[in-house]
Amino acid sequence: MHAKLIDGKKLAEEMRAELGPQVEELTKAGIIPGLVVVLVGEDPASQVYVRMKHKACEKIGIYSDIVKLPDDTTQEQLLSTINRLNNDSKIHGILVQLPLPKHMDSTAVLESIDPAKDVDGFHPVNVGRVVTGDPRGFRPATPYGVQKMLIRYGVETSGANVVIVGRSNIVGRPMASMLLHYGEGGDATVTVCHSRTKDLPAVARAADILIVAIGRPHFVTGGMVKPGAVVVDVGVNRVDDPDSEKGYKLVGDVDFDAAAEVASLITPVPGGVGPMTITMLLYNTVQAARQWLT
Ligand code: NDP
Repeated sequence: MHAKLIDGKKLAEEMRAELGPQVEELTKAGIIPGLVVVLVGEDPASQVYVRMKHKACEKIGIYSDIVKLPDDTTQEQLLSTINRLNNDSKIHGILVQLPLPKHMDSTAVLESIDPAKDVDGFHPVNVGRVVTGDPRGFRPATPYGVQKMLIRYGVETSGANVVIVGRSNIVGRPMASMLLHYGEGGDATVTVCHSRTKDLPAVARAADILIVAIGRPHFVTGGMVKPGAVVVDVGVNRVDDPDSEKGYKLVGDVDFDAAAEVASLITPVPGGVGPMTITMLLYNTVQAARQWLT
């Protein structure tokens, strides 16, 4: 392997440790940062994510609660739960775990969260602030984690050609906005690719920094990476693995072994972007609580 590894797990641990003193300061001031995750239904993957978030909060002294609602909860009942949490002064962050059951209007639900408590950054007010570079906007955790990784690993984004593959509202689009911000971790020249992009391999090969978030196992081959590029793999895909106990393993959107021969720095899956995502959620919750410090 030619590339150096970007160790998301280690960096996430470091950053969580750095949050400790901020949580202490808030607690001394009588403000215990509080996060509530609302989970509707029984989706097994969502249950795992919610438990991971809960444990991560507890570990650094953030109060955390999970509101579990059954699959047949009505939209009105969910909105009323969110309204209660919006008005609960002990709660600084509210997160509605996606996906919601099909009978619910996710847009209306996300828009009902108080923007000041929207630590996921999906409310249109926060989306708008992130697009315009307003620092008050909560940045969505996954792209925020990627940006922090690049900064901490000394990757210069200013003037760099960054190619993002994937244009989702939770990863690709906010990632592009954040890389266009002025200053540290920004000032990049950004190209966003998607399923209609012509000759994607050629576009990807022009990238100094290639960020991939499409949900297609091993989509990016070694031949799509410019020699010396930095490769960030956001994808998490389950593929069959008869050798493992569970019968599957997790792989990214990048063919890691092939890309690592060409790149200068690369994130693994698992252990790359994933742990940073939860860390940035904790970070946003602490920032939400800090709004109450006088
Ligand atoms: P979405 O399904 O919402 O979006 C996928 C994007 O990829 C779309 O813009 C789509 O294009 C594009 N795309 C799909 N196939 C191709 C293709 N063949 N060529 C070019 N573009 C393509 O995905 P998400 O953004 O939600 O997630 C992407 C991946 O990241 C998933 O594996 C997910 O599990 C992972 N993820 C990981 C997180 C973490 O914490 N590590 C957090 C969030 C996501 P179009 O718009 O044209 O359809």
